[in-house]
Amino acid sequence: MNDEFRRRSQELAPALVAWRRDFHRHPELGFQEIRTAGIVSAHLRRLGLEVRTSVGQTGVVALIEGNGPGPTVFLRFDMDALPVTEATGLPFASQHAGIMHACGHDGHTAIGMAVAQMLVETASDWPGRVKLLFQPAEEGLGGAAATIADGVLDDPRPDLAFGLHLWNPLPLGQVVAQSGPLMAAADRFTLTITGRGGHGGMPHTTVDAILVAGQAVTLLQSIVSRNLPPHEAAVLSVGTFHAGEAFNVIAETAVLTGTLRTLQPAVRATLIRRMEEMLDGLTRSHGASYTLELADHTPALVNDPDATRLAAAAAAAVVSPAGLTTLAPLMVAEDMAEFLARVPGCYLLVGARPEGTAAEPHHSPRFDFAEEALPLAAAILAATAVRALRGEDE
Ligand SMILES: [Zn+2]
Ligand SMILES: [Zn+2]
Repeated sequence: MNDEFRRRSQELAPALVAWRRDFHRHPELGFQEIRTAGIVSAHLRRLGLEVRTSVGQTGVVALIEGNGPGPTVFLRFDMDALPVTEATGLPFASQHAGIMHACGHDGHTAIGMAVAQMLVETASDWPGRVKLLFQPAEEGLGGAAATIADGVLDDPRPDLAFGLHLWNPLPLGQVVAQSGPLMAAADRFTLTITGRGGHGGMPHTTVDAILVAGQAVTLLQSIVSRNLPPHEAAVLSVGTFHAGEAFNVIAETAVLTGTLRTLQPAVRATLIRRMEEMLDGLTRSHGASYTLELADHTPALVNDPDATRLAAAAAAAVVSPAGLTTLAPLMVAEDMAEFLARVPGCYLLVGARPEGTAAEPHHSPRFDFAEEALPLAAAILAATAVRALRGEDE
């Protein structure tokens, strides 16, 4: 059915572009995707599907039944925009100041609508069923977890899960479908160091939280370089450092926040253990104290080898085998990982860099992608789903 999906997705290309540009004009932040979810729901209902709305606040779920008993394949598309002020100058630029589809989720939503349409049209040709999720709030707000808490993985429970991201670092026509860790686990940390405030001219009567926190920043940087094996990937970044209220006062507290990125749970555990050990020793030596809080954990995104073989075969059939490429795991996080931690599957990256241009990074106010990637991505995902349902590996 690769040829059929390739042909049909090209017929749907004008609709894909129109949907995408409409979503782009009217971006909505996470958990506020009311208009977007409404357009998706109306489209799915027009296709004759029963639609469940308000899943994880603003998510949309529908089931497409095939021609008989079989597995359940889960497809996920994210819908949210970012708090970014658009600077593309495109004719279909955001009409809402301070909100922009700067990650390509407008494209993902449109792709999901086309995939739904192609799977409904071919449902008599494959067994089992496809569960579609149009997910809210991917951008760090916990949308995946919200839909899971709302039962998206229950009744029926999916056997395999797939999703994709349009990816500007890759040129149009290239696809990454690789097994193992693809994106990092992420944790937000908040470090509070407490000393004893006092007079700036009488430091011997104080414990200077700024001095201790400054040493903490440099000390923590030694964990990745000196406590982890060099071939293990990890990032520890301090993003904010707030302390002090007056030039002649020794600060009593310093509050630092940052992010940890890891690909392996054991590396994450080492990172956290060494942070605690170093902060304990450091603050003790100064007579200060500390608290370290971790929050907003997203697991690493890990692709299952069997599911990846299916997705790679589908992608190769759509874009040609030469279009398949690989890359070093990315230290960005993606909450598709929440689904793949529970259901084996594969998350693909579909090249979307406009030809002859330098890639404008995702989340940039000048971000745009090649719309030719929309039908390719839709065909790849529809073909992947059908291969998974039929158990085809070739
Ligand atoms: Zn993003
Ligand atoms: Zn994204």
